Amino acid sequence: MKILVINAGSSSRKYQLFDLPDGGVLTAGLVERIGEASSRVNHTVFRNGESHKITRDLPLKDHRAGLQQVAELLMDAEVGVIADAAEIDAVGHRVVHGGEQFSQTTVITPDVKFAIERLSPFAPLHNPPNLQGITVAEEVFPDAVQVAVFDTAFHQTMPPHAYRYAIPNEFYDEHGIRVYGFHGTSHLYVSRRAAEMLGKSPAETNVITAHLGNGASMAAVAGGRSIDTSMGFTPLPGLMMGSRCGDLDPAVVYYLGTKLGKSFDEIDRILNKQSGLIGITGVNDLRDIESRAAAGDAQAELALEMYAYRIKKYIGAYAAALGRVDALVFTAGVGENSDTIRARACAGLENLGFRLDAAKNAGRKKTATAIHAEGSPVKIFVIPTNEELEIARQAYEVVGR
Ligand code: ADP
Repeated sequence: MKILVINAGSSSRKYQLFDLPDGGVLTAGLVERIGEASSRVNHTVFRNGESHKITRDLPLKDHRAGLQQVAELLMDAEVGVIADAAEIDAVGHRVVHGGEQFSQTTVITPDVKFAIERLSPFAPLHNPPNLQGITVAEEVFPDAVQVAVFDTAFHQTMPPHAYRYAIPNEFYDEHGIRVYGFHGTSHLYVSRRAAEMLGKSPAETNVITAHLGNGASMAAVAGGRSIDTSMGFTPLPGLMMGSRCGDLDPAVVYYLGTKLGKSFDEIDRILNKQSGLIGITGVNDLRDIESRAAAGDAQAELALEMYAYRIKKYIGAYAAALGRVDALVFTAGVGENSDTIRARACAGLENLGFRLDAAKNAGRKKTATAIHAEGSPVKIFVIPTNEELEIARQAYEVVGR
């Protein structure tokens, strides 16, 4: 079954074409700067263990033109992998917010599109482009089943004591203000892989997952189900991130407004775009911060300690929430590549059962790797995430049913 996965952002579109169950990824690409004078399509074809990259610079006036260009590349006489658009059986769409309505991957109908639109106030930067991605894909691939995979869905198994905020009931009852959580597809994928690595079924495995990318979140996964996660009503709380502040006394917002005269829009920008690693060091790429810290920059050192300390606190919290932890997983850009952050986050947790092996931890990890010391009660893994593959698998399951 040929499944195209689309991750639609505001000005860019990422896509991958899979041949499931056995063929793996056939092509992957990115369409950027849609609507600008010159757009760019980066398209990579995987064949016989080799990859072949094609870059096209051309004007693409809108997202429809962007996806049509992708369809042409997929059917290209030389580099194409399909002969006809009708060969695409399903298109799996990443949709950020599914609210309480969507706890499962869902075949898209007009009602589902309406619901995604209705949820847009909860994710104003994401749901509208996600929805547009769906509409365009329906036009370009009319014969394919369109499927939505929600970032929030995996966390819908959280119990009320974890997802409710201790504010007056009406804000939940009437306005849906609660913890939703994000990165669900990644937490699901790596927690399942961790169970595989332990030789157990997800149902009998308790895992703490740390997705550390530009955005970062952790989850407590008990028996294959998310029971808590560090992001909340929005992706702002929890860990310190590239540019987001993470956990913060909500009274700081009040103070910024009433005492410092900041508007709501300014506060939103400060906390989402100018905080986190950027707020402390001026940059959001951890590689730069690590080299600055190694060169003796005190601010960079502070940022690394703050970043790792938050992760450590959540490891402790989720160990308490789970009672028994079988594995801790690091994933995404920072989790897969930064041995410094992994080591700092686990330092001092030996008596809680988390014992890292410094030699195994050293370096970047391109494949799933165990990094715990011999005899460590909790196994510690680095598992490269693959949200696109997980989306394709879920679409495959839903369409094959
Ligand atoms: P996104 O959330 O945008 O998908 P990624 O998962 O790709 O993010 O993670 C991006 C981040 O990973 C970068 O901003 C950088 O901080 C970090 N990163 C990438 N490579 C390295 C590396 N070699 N060492 C340390 N950090 C890295």
